[in-house]
Amino acid sequence: MVNRLVPYVPGEQPKIDNLVKLNTNENPYPPSPRVIAAIQAAAQQGLQLYPDPEATALRQAIAAQHGLAAQHVFLGNGSDEVLAHAFFAFFQHDCPLLMPDISYSFYKVYCGLYGIPVETVPLRADLSLDVAAYARADGAAVAGVVIANPNAPTGVGLPLRQVEQLLRLHPQRVVLVDEAYVDFGGESAMPLIAQYPNLLVVHTLSKSRSLAGLRVGFACGQAHLITALERVKNSFNSYPLDRLAIAGGVAAFEDQAYFEQTRRAVMSSREGLVLALEDMGFQVLPSQANFVFARHPQHDAAGIAAALRARGVLVRHFKLPRIEQFLRISIGTPAQCDALLQALDSVLAGLA
Ligand code: PMP
Repeated sequence: MVNRLVPYVPGEQPKIDNLVKLNTNENPYPPSPRVIAAIQAAAQQGLQLYPDPEATALRQAIAAQHGLAAQHVFLGNGSDEVLAHAFFAFFQHDCPLLMPDISYSFYKVYCGLYGIPVETVPLRADLSLDVAAYARADGAAVAGVVIANPNAPTGVGLPLRQVEQLLRLHPQRVVLVDEAYVDFGGESAMPLIAQYPNLLVVHTLSKSRSLAGLRVGFACGQAHLITALERVKNSFNSYPLDRLAIAGGVAAFEDQAYFEQTRRAVMSSREGLVLALEDMGFQVLPSQANFVFARHPQHDAAGIAAALRARGVLVRHFKLPRIEQFLRISIGTPAQCDALLQALDSVLAGLA
């Protein structure tokens, strides 16, 4: 069994200094100073004790942020862990889980781990999601639906109205909407939770809250879904969030001004980067995320990625059908974006 698993391969985390690292969609800005202070205070106090297994303080902070109650919030060690528990809890049926053919590649890895059959649904030619293609007119059973919105690695967003159509197509099955990147301009499905018992919305503090290193993710949904997730979690690890993560997470939600400031800075850099890339001849998909997905009609994407790497700039290239001519470029600080553009200038000049 173990030998048949195909594990997820995360983006490179090189141990080399001075790289311009635009390959794993981290936030280029550090977390709020209040987060650092809260973690330092928590480190001084009580690390000899186990953390609160329910992480109630953080669940309350998240619930307040989204106009929900704490019983609508489930926490995990990064949203990857939340997703893993959700796949285990909701998608193990004798019929396939529907997901886009191009999406976050970890979804298929969880399916492999839990033996969940997958049916991929092709994105349209422009890599937008076609909701109608998720209908099963023949009444064929499905285990559920998982999408990322905005999608990864494309950055393309799905309007809320269409998420709602998806929820209506399979009312008896969980529709998991992974909103890892939603704070960079997407439309969140959180307001639909009260109305749709089959909706599970997954978020992370890794991107818009600059806390990829702390490992905090969460899911929101009606109480019956959260109870199911807790059963799985408490059959696996009672304490997925340590004391530092709980304290830092709470402080992150207390500093809304910092959150607004940094996410707006990322979005504004994105708009500038898109224009500059288009000037260089790239086609850039419309992005609602902290990265862009771009291709150059004249130059091979793998070649550009390798040449950029040689100049100390990391971007992500996926050698996968339909997207192997694209590069995924995370949005950096203005200085990092400039360094990328300068390196690209010289790479393209060398390839011309
Ligand atoms: N969902 C998507 C779409 C992602 O791109 C990522 C980041 N790789 C995650 C979930 C997981 O993020 P984390 O585990 O850091 O919360």
